[in-house]
Amino acid sequence: MKQALVTKSTGSWYLIKDISTNEVYEARIRGKFKKEKIRNTNPLAVGDKVEYELEETSVAWITKIYPRKNYLIRKSVNLSKETHILAANIDLACIIFTTRNPQTSLGFLNRFLITCEAYEIPVLLVFNKIDLLTENEKEEQNEIIGIYKNIGYDTLEISAEKMINIDKLKERVKNKTTVFFGHSGSGKSSTINSLQPDLSLKTASVSGYNEKGKHTTTFAQMYDWSFGGSIIDIPGVKEFELVDVKREELQDYFPEIFKERENCRFSNCLHINEPHCAVVKAVEEGSISKKRYQNYLKIMEDLK
Ligand code: GDP
Ligand code: ZN
Repeated sequence: MKQALVTKSTGSWYLIKDISTNEVYEARIRGKFKKEKIRNTNPLAVGDKVEYELEETSVAWITKIYPRKNYLIRKSVNLSKETHILAANIDLACIIFTTRNPQTSLGFLNRFLITCEAYEIPVLLVFNKIDLLTENEKEEQNEIIGIYKNIGYDTLEISAEKMINIDKLKERVKNKTTVFFGHSGSGKSSTINSLQPDLSLKTASVSGYNEKGKHTTTFAQMYDWSFGGSIIDIPGVKEFELVDVKREELQDYFPEIFKERENCRFSNCLHINEPHCAVVKAVEEGSISKKRYQNYLKIMEDLK
């Protein structure tokens, strides 16, 4: 039985890499699982582990897909009820956050974190461009780092340009399958290049758009790090919509609120204005960040 990882998916054909030989094949799907119950426009995604058969020498037929540990999805652009799996079996999602040039908003960061909590993907918050910060901005950034460390998130301050803490970042991504996100200009490609200068990766900012700035269709692809592990590049995707988060569910994706909720008087407390709410009390006492709580309320409002 041959096993492989999907390293590229176009929806009709795939590239797969044999798990034991590292041999790469162009592959197609055979069999029933084309019509799986999940309504996806793409039945297989980059990162999927599959079984395959070889016909003649180079044509591979995918015969089985293994259950996914996790995955990231996006609603399809045209077919609103269908979803599109961007990547599967992710070990780590890194967000490249910048306090300036450009300023990353906490709202963006929180939506990223909610998505990762919902899909059970471990995260690393990478604060890039620390070489640019004034003393005031450093303080501001430290405060933000404090908030997220306190919740339990792993954080790392780097400068891709000045190669600060890149060795530490390498330790974090080594032997894992990682995805990187960030606003355009935050230094996603610089960071990837600082980890491995010769990685032949066409970055989102380049390949996602053609010369006229019009969006072109590109596909996710997995690349191997020379030091072990791999990166899944998802061109053109910087942020995910919240797919199917219900108002009652939102608290599950704020770990600090989730932890406190059992102390609320009412089991169906949404921590907005209910009496004897332990979350509101924790915010008043300062053990839950006011900024995070306000963002929780704002998203609740948006989900109405
Ligand atoms: P991407 O759009 O997220 O891929 O961002 P790029 O990697 O293309 O970086 C955007 C700009 O920020 C480029 O001009 C980089 O040279 C610059 N940049 C990236 N990292 C750093 C850093 O750590 N410090 C400074 N000063 N500039 C950086
Ligand atoms: Zn409550």
